Amino acid sequence: MKKIPIKAQEVSPAARVGNFQEVVTAYSEEEALSEASRCLQCKEPLCIGGCPVGIDIKKFIYHITQKDYASAYFKIKEKNNFPSICGRVCPAEYQCRKACVLTKRGSSFASEQAINIHFLERFAGDYGKNNDLDTPVKKENQLSKFKVAVVGSGPAGLCCAGELARKGIKVDIFESLHKTGGVLRYGIPPFRLPWDILDFEIDYLNKLGVNFITNFIVGKTNSIKELFEQGYASIFLGLGAGVPSFLGIKGENLCNIYSVNEFLTRVNLMSAYKFPEFHTPVNIGRKVLIVGGGNTAMDAARVALRLQKIKGMALDVTVVYRRTEAEMPARRLEIEHAKEEGVKFEFLVQPKEFSGDDQGLVRKLICLRSRLGEPDSSGRRRPITIEASEFEVDCDLCVIAVGLKANQVLINATAELEINKDSDIIVDPASMETSIKGVYAGGDIVGGEGTIIEAMGMAKRAAHSIIDSFGQA
Ligand SMILES: Cc1cc2nc3c(=O)[nH]c(=O)nc-3n(C[C@H](O)[C@H](O)[C@H](O)COP(=O)(O)OP(=O)(O)OC[C@H]3O[C@@H](n4cnc5c(N)ncnc54)[C@H](O)[C@@H]3O)c2cc1C
Ligand code: SF4
Repeated sequence: MKKIPIKAQEVSPAARVGNFQEVVTAYSEEEALSEASRCLQCKEPLCIGGCPVGIDIKKFIYHITQKDYASAYFKIKEKNNFPSICGRVCPAEYQCRKACVLTKRGSSFASEQAINIHFLERFAGDYGKNNDLDTPVKKENQLSKFKVAVVGSGPAGLCCAGELARKGIKVDIFESLHKTGGVLRYGIPPFRLPWDILDFEIDYLNKLGVNFITNFIVGKTNSIKELFEQGYASIFLGLGAGVPSFLGIKGENLCNIYSVNEFLTRVNLMSAYKFPEFHTPVNIGRKVLIVGGGNTAMDAARVALRLQKIKGMALDVTVVYRRTEAEMPARRLEIEHAKEEGVKFEFLVQPKEFSGDDQGLVRKLICLRSRLGEPDSSGRRRPITIEASEFEVDCDLCVIAVGLKANQVLINATAELEINKDSDIIVDPASMETSIKGVYAGGDIVGGEGTIIEAMGMAKRAAHSIIDSFGQA
């Protein structure tokens, strides 16, 4: 008899929209065993090829079927430092689950029948964390004479630091913000990734001896050259893509139009979700528009909805996207969650200009309808605006979530660092070394806007190159 896929439980939309608590509940042991038992233990496990860091998915699922959760945890940790994080936010439907043999071939994302690898990864990851399986051991050895500077404390920086510190190398992480974690802290809201999960990983690195230095902008506070002069043998750059793109249309400078970074950062880092305890300077409108179709847009929409609810307003948040739902780059689960919670969607809509009132506050978005044409370089069908299709949408808050670009401060201050036309740092893909000897890079600053697991994969590669270079020293 065909076994039914086990979906993780979720808090009901009505209950969750009034707070920032985690939406998806962990598998119970029974659910994990039942889901793991659906895995066919394929001779050729296609799922592994779909994982950017090549986790032995078949094997860790096998360990779960044997109730050997510790082995499942360590099997994942061989390739992925943060299973509890990735099990929650990896876009598995485009990666391992899409590659699973149970997904219909040719599908653009995972079928329902595909094994819920991410929920099983979260189960194993949380088991390891809750049972303190991975005790950080501070090592002193011949590598301890080397000191490495890691710039940026997002997933790339954290992963690189962990790999190095476990080998006994001394690591200082420099972070420009006052809090660590990069997008995991200031971008992704806690209803998707609770901060205690991130704090656990950071605490782990602390115990390994990693030193965190916040409010420190490399490229301004100190240059790369100065870091070398201070005795760092190598430097890893995990600067991320923190610069927002804009639409470049008339009226975009009106008040109450935020970039997605600013909106989410204010809410997450300045405790807006704790209203009325905190009076965070972030406006929340009665009619909110979010422009974009990626994860950032879904996060902004769901955050705006929660803030409306917490402030006792009627819920009115609309996502405006220039293509159709099928082309949206956001995770399927986030789109479903947004819909369930009451976010409205306007597809095939191209913003043309904003108009405001006499106080300079945004009041309307003027748009054009579009239709889909031929695929563009991203493989998605290009939106083509339809002439004379203009219409207006009322709004008193708008969040622009149409892409993120490389952080520039350090790049502008470091002439010898080679970059490409998008201002991403160019590296040797095998070693992740940049054009400056001893300086490595990884994550969104190299690949452009990507995913957490991809950032970690690059960081791991860079860390191993650094370790190898010390071996030869
Ligand atoms: C809102 C949002 C939601 C997302 N959702 C998902 C998701 O569900 N799943 C997924 O896989 N991916 C998601 N992503 C993408 C993912 O978060 C990124 O791919 C990932 O965080 C990249 O990691 P990173 O370490 O390269 O950069 P970041 O996480 O951006 O970290 C870079 C860090 O470097 C610091 N920094 C920058 N310049 C300097 C400097 N000069 N000196 C010192 N510090 C500096 C920054 O302050 C930042 O803390 C999301 C992104 C956003 C913005
Ligand atoms: S997860 Fe899917 S592809 Fe991987 S071993 Fe199990 S059934 Fe096969």
